[in-house]
Amino acid sequence: MFIVMLGAPGTGKGTIGGILEKELGIVRISSGDIFRTYVKKDKEIGKKIEDYMSKGLLVPDELVVQLVGNRLQESDVINGAILDGFPRTENQAKELDKLLSKGNNKVNLAINLSLPDNEVIARISRRRCCPNKECGEIYNLDFKPPIRDGLCDKCGSKLVQRQDDKEETIKRRLEVYHSTADELINYYKNQNVLKNIKLGSETNLTSNDVGKVLVEELKATI
Ligand SMILES: [Zn+2]
Repeated sequence: MFIVMLGAPGTGKGTIGGILEKELGIVRISSGDIFRTYVKKDKEIGKKIEDYMSKGLLVPDELVVQLVGNRLQESDVINGAILDGFPRTENQAKELDKLLSKGNNKVNLAINLSLPDNEVIARISRRRCCPNKECGEIYNLDFKPPIRDGLCDKCGSKLVQRQDDKEETIKRRLEVYHSTADELINYYKNQNVLKNIKLGSETNLTSNDVGKVLVEELKATI
């Protein structure tokens, strides 16, 4: 089963995708993780990606399709994957269909998470990360605070705020997200695979609640 996670940054795609991965045994592919891997291992491609990400801009289609395409050829995701952060545009969604059709696969479900922008900004600006490359644990001062103020629970490093989690960058990321979100959501709606889920103060649903409900629903269909 191939699942696409849609939604603005900070809507819980990572958390919910992580729950589905653990409970359903489907590997999660996050474009952010792929990019960060390249930033470390391939200086030339990495530098390009870093430039876009630090400005809150989208990595160009050609490059992102190539990197995700490479990842989708690996043996652990031949029969299914949860895609997080890709596709971001209708064009990327079409390219994804082409990539999947090579293995006679298609997107079976697109989960669209929505959360008001002001809540997104509040959430992300409260995020803190462990800068230790061996660790990389992520915290949230509201939902998942470290036990000791400002220090990583796992390795004791001093926590930092990532450049792309700062308020100005988040606002830019939201603008970029909204500029392509509708076409993407419509694309999956027209394919009858779209599932809309509202989070935050509107419904009082947390990412964990949504994850659990989805696991139960999907277990019945797998
Ligand atoms: Zn750490």
